[in-house]
Amino acid sequence: MAYKVEYEREGCIGAGVCVAMCEKHWVMNADGKADLIASTKEGRMDVKEIGQDDLESMKQAAEGCPVNVIHILKKDTGEKVI
Ligand code: SF4
Repeated sequence: MAYKVEYEREGCIGAGVCVAMCEKHWVMNADGKADLIASTKEGRMDVKEIGQDDLESMKQAAEGCPVNVIHILKKDTGEKVI
């Protein structure tokens, strides 16, 4: 199954949990906020599709983010995973 990750970058406080949990998809930027690697812009969100293999680590990033700016949806139904 494919999943869509949505990231509200404005709200990031640079805690770095996402990078620690899921370094394949997250990197710290010099401006102090995290970047969702290879994402595209969709309004205020940075978005990216991931596969089943990356769901667990991305969930850990989303759960660990202290300001809750990382969201994961099922791509086909839009149902919220976290
Ligand atoms: S865990 Fe959340 S606040 Fe911390 S760097 Fe990642 S997105 Fe930003």
